[in-house]
Amino acid sequence: MTILRVAAGRRSVGVVLRKRPKHPNPELEELLREVEKHGWTVTKRKQYFKTECRCPARHQTWVHLTPSNPNYTRNQRKWFERQACWKDDD
Ligand SMILES: [Zn+2]
Repeated sequence: MTILRVAAGRRSVGVVLRKRPKHPNPELEELLREVEKHGWTVTKRKQYFKTECRCPARHQTWVHLTPSNPNYTRNQRKWFERQACWKDDD
């Protein structure tokens, strides 16, 4: 009898399942993931996603669901990069 090795043990159990819905705009979804990677909290609201950092200054901004400005993603990204607690080096 052959024992079939089930790869169940290899599943990434440590992944924290955040119930954040995806941003409909792929560029902004990517930005939100980056924001989360920096340890910020992303919360879905009605017309936007609220992002908040965890430094004492509690920087926060909103990422709209349907931005009309074509430069919106870039502008938002720049805003994040301007914050003192946003560090790109590991
Ligand atoms: Zn901050």
